[in-house]
Amino acid sequence: ALTIGIVGLPNVGKSTMFNALTRNQVLAANYPFATIEPNIGVVSLPDQRLNRLAEIFGSERILPATVSFVDIAGIVRGASEGEGLGNQFLATIREADAICQVIRGFADSDVVHVEGEVSPASDIDTINTELILADLQTVEKALPRIEKEVKQKRNEPEVLEAATKAAEILGEGRTLFSAMHDDGFDVTPIRELSLLTAKPFLFVFNVDDDVLADEGRKDELRKLVAPVEAIFLDAKFESELAELDEDEAREMLESTGQDEAGLDQLAHVGFRTLGLQTYLTAGPKESRAWTIHKGDTAPQAAGVIHTDFQKGFIKAEIVSFDDLDAAGSMNDAKAKGKVRMEGKDYIMADGDVVEFRFNV
Ligand code: GDP
Repeated sequence: ALTIGIVGLPNVGKSTMFNALTRNQVLAANYPFATIEPNIGVVSLPDQRLNRLAEIFGSERILPATVSFVDIAGIVRGASEGEGLGNQFLATIREADAICQVIRGFADSDVVHVEGEVSPASDIDTINTELILADLQTVEKALPRIEKEVKQKRNEPEVLEAATKAAEILGEGRTLFSAMHDDGFDVTPIRELSLLTAKPFLFVFNVDDDVLADEGRKDELRKLVAPVEAIFLDAKFESELAELDEDEAREMLESTGQDEAGLDQLAHVGFRTLGLQTYLTAGPKESRAWTIHKGDTAPQAAGVIHTDFQKGFIKAEIVSFDDLDAAGSMNDAKAKGKVRMEGKDYIMADGDVVEFRFNV
């Protein structure tokens, strides 16, 4: 399964946010290095379309798609040199598919900031620098081996070329992701190195409610991470929301003028950052969202349900959610000619409602 690793300086609210994510009330402690063991939290991706499908099909239950988050130990200046919880941190983060940086924007004099003052720009800088230094170490360690392998024709020259270029980019203090974005740097030949700064990033600003309501201030923070999308939430508030039932939570959210919980936004942005989308299945038993990559074909999508569905794939009966929603029932959608039969080359679209036909 795809996972997003949560990183940040100590005391920025990672545990508080993670606990809210998992509805898990592990005590968030007010001192650096409180988060030691990596934990995995599986979070559902809220999807109103499933409620509508359940209504149309009379489904007994709803199964949304999920996003997994790993809570990784706090990073401090010098983490790449094995300080603080550096090495353990690096081992866990290497396995994540994307990195979510949590940045402190809340001002609470009772909560110590490890670097003395609350400064989002310098916090981002500290974390990026540590990730860049960690990658530089990895690449410099791998270079002599790769050089030798290429000489002995046991590896491709492209690998050496990419590794050399990566060392150069990192040496300039840039992340590989920005080099991929800005000058088309291709990291694929050195995928096996699992370089941290080549992973997509998400940025969460943990802020007070006055910032949540202040578009000007949010724009300033957005500029720090552009072109990456910023998420704003109040971790403490989110953890309070997480303890309420659905109706109470909605009421509390509305009373603060927000239309979507910060964690729901996080799940959505995380899902997009990982390049994922969902298709839907529905029947009397359940309405369910299934996770696929953008660009997946119908047989690949079928394979997510069961490998036999992929192997024995014949065709897929598909209606887009919007058409089904408008028609109000499968029969009416068929009568309107909105239900299509698609073959093995069909590229799935987000929100396709599907029934697969297959041989067993
Ligand atoms: P971590 O070290 O990044 O995991 O940080 P924690 O989640 O343990 O939070 C450190 C301290 O900051 C705890 O005392 C939290 O209660 C507090 N805290 C976390 N988020 C917020 C927030 O949004 N606002 C305020 N005022 N305090 C927070």
